[in-house]
Amino acid sequence: MVYIGVDIGATWVRCAVADTNGKIIAKKKIRTLPDYGDKNVMLLRLKSTIRSLLKNLDAKSVEAIGVGSIGPLDMRRGIILRTPNLPIENIPVGEYLKKEFNVPVYIVNDCTAAVIGERFFGAGKNTENIVYITLSSGIGGGAIVDGNVLFGKDGNAVEIGHIVVDYDRKLRCGCGGYGHWEAYTSGKNIGIFTRFLVENVYGRDKYDVSILSRYSKDPSNIKYPDIVTAAKENDTLAFQIIEEIAEINAAGFATVTNVYDPEIISVGGSIALKNPSELILKPIGDKIEEFLINRKPKILITPLGEDVVIMGAVALAMNPDIIPKKFRD
Ligand SMILES: [Zn+2]
Repeated sequence: MVYIGVDIGATWVRCAVADTNGKIIAKKKIRTLPDYGDKNVMLLRLKSTIRSLLKNLDAKSVEAIGVGSIGPLDMRRGIILRTPNLPIENIPVGEYLKKEFNVPVYIVNDCTAAVIGERFFGAGKNTENIVYITLSSGIGGGAIVDGNVLFGKDGNAVEIGHIVVDYDRKLRCGCGGYGHWEAYTSGKNIGIFTRFLVENVYGRDKYDVSILSRYSKDPSNIKYPDIVTAAKENDTLAFQIIEEIAEINAAGFATVTNVYDPEIISVGGSIALKNPSELILKPIGDKIEEFLINRKPKILITPLGEDVVIMGAVALAMNPDIIPKKFRD
């Protein structure tokens, strides 16, 4: 008997098979949308990836499937509604997998899955108050408060990437809202934020003498690795942008802390996992106190790394009672 965990992200879909102790015994990742946005192709590829993993293991019976997915979701119907970071909408993942594999399928927001993974297998084993934050193409979160996973009316209780960090309406988010955290420091939007800073704060002259201009004449094409590489080479503008990023991330982390009062904030996502802590995570810890009322939490990189969502999806498949009854009927 095995459990299946699925992590649906904007760029990658990860599938894993776990034994009855939750130990991953096989996994595979595929691109979420290799071609241009056909949700049927996406579902077919997801199914065949799971099937091939099972076939290689000669696994006979699947007990349940857990899915952590980019949102927002309609948790009741197991549908990915429309996400700011994918060009497709209304993807009926839950129903499709249920029909194909004929087992219960439990689907939650990816960061909710991550915080569940953290609680069962990672940094949250010894605390009832933990928040997970992903810094990735988008910014998202999951929260456990007093041992309760937070879901909300539709399962989207912790959409922290859309916390307003700037009510001045300078930048517009992929979701359509103004001043959202994700519009500034997410992987997808860092180029637009860089352009904003160049045009409105630091000036084009500074950009032209910066190492950053070697990557692209147009600051809106700048990516995280460019800023980090330039900062490592002591580029002044890159350092200033790193400071601006840290300031906004600190406001986001502080808001999360003021709202959920966590003991631990575990951080994942490619920006946090692939860049040096002294440029991304440490400056957040240094600046967070200017925005805090609550006691500062421990801020750390998730020990589960890239597997954090998938581990949560497995934990969910094994412990479906975590999901409130209203979403399971
Ligand atoms: Zn938004």
